[in-house]
Amino acid sequence: MNFYEQLVAEMNELKENGLFVTIRTLESAQGAWFEVDGKKVLNLCSNNYLGFANNERMKKAAIEAIEKYGVGPGAVRSIAGTMDIHTQLEKELAAFKKTEATLVVQSGFNANQAVIPAITTKDDAILSDELNHASIIDGVRLSKAKKYVWKHKDVKDLEEKLKEAKEAGARRLLIITDGVFSMDGDLAPLPEIVEVAEKYDAIVMVDDAHGEGVLGESGRGIVDHFHLHGRVHIEVGTLSKAFGVVGGFVAGKKELIDYLKQKARPFLFSSSLSPAEAGAALEAVRILVESGEVVERLWDNAKYFKEKLNALGFDTWHSETPITPVMLYDAKVAKEFSLKLFEEGIFAQSIGYPTVPKGLARIRVMISAAHTKEDLDFAVEKFEKIGKELNIIK
Ligand code: PMP
Repeated sequence: MNFYEQLVAEMNELKENGLFVTIRTLESAQGAWFEVDGKKVLNLCSNNYLGFANNERMKKAAIEAIEKYGVGPGAVRSIAGTMDIHTQLEKELAAFKKTEATLVVQSGFNANQAVIPAITTKDDAILSDELNHASIIDGVRLSKAKKYVWKHKDVKDLEEKLKEAKEAGARRLLIITDGVFSMDGDLAPLPEIVEVAEKYDAIVMVDDAHGEGVLGESGRGIVDHFHLHGRVHIEVGTLSKAFGVVGGFVAGKKELIDYLKQKARPFLFSSSLSPAEAGAALEAVRILVESGEVVERLWDNAKYFKEKLNALGFDTWHSETPITPVMLYDAKVAKEFSLKLFEEGIFAQSIGYPTVPKGLARIRVMISAAHTKEDLDFAVEKFEKIGKELNIIK
């Protein structure tokens, strides 16, 4: 087999196992409903939690930013790519997050690549929850520190590993956890993690990609949700989900942010956010500072949908947030369920290995404040129909 034949053989294997990802194409803006592959469908799989991806105020702010600053940043942040719209965003984001400072980078993925290798050396230890997001795993791979993976949400296991790392002579102990686990929708036990971290003088870093704009007062995130301000050293966030744009950030003390500006490679070696992105994200922050009403609507919708699905007999796993996994376990069944949903007018992707462990395939439903109760009723009706057809529910 030549190189290309090898690639095709591997993809065929994915297809046989129900793990080949069907990439659909949108022909309209994000919203409760959108055009996908020529069909108007209900959107149940975007991270557009608050409906901000097509928000009028934010679109206007993006257009104004383009008119003032043009379409491209022209350089990396550390050369000629820092515009006052970036620094204003960082300032208002820090006030929103109740931290001293923030650093904005191109994506949440890049934010993890920015922080983790910059603050750890071979003399340090990183302790990571086994279900942490791929961008954390890759960030950890970029570090020379010794790696310890602790069992999902198991703070006792974390403490064992902290002891082990301390005894091995680690200089710095860096604990990293997702805030909201992106596939299961459950929350990190952050208060317990902080307690054990303080006992071992460890640094706590939380990736709150799915908590930003969702948890806490007006969507200030998981640290605000648990009232842990000042006790979590590093918050990583994204502007690509609830904030409706694209981008990522790190929030923390001024010394940390100043240091990252000198050391973080995505900041130093990749161009900054475009003016339109920065302008739109700034407006998103301002909307949330004004009112948390849209966040309340999101939670109300999530509760409504989950209760109806559970009443039908669907298993929504450990979800505590608007991320609603509908467990089907078998990857082929999950794929078939997703294709049937699409035929019925609903776009909800099936998720299988390696995004989730083998045997835990699912449809991952993402609820949005943009959905109406009628939209959610329509979804429930279709889940019931297909669930019965496929013998998932009675
Ligand atoms: N961290 C977590 C926990 C995520 O779920 C995601 C998005 N899948 C990211 C980071 C990456 O964010 P972005 O899309 O802004 O790169």
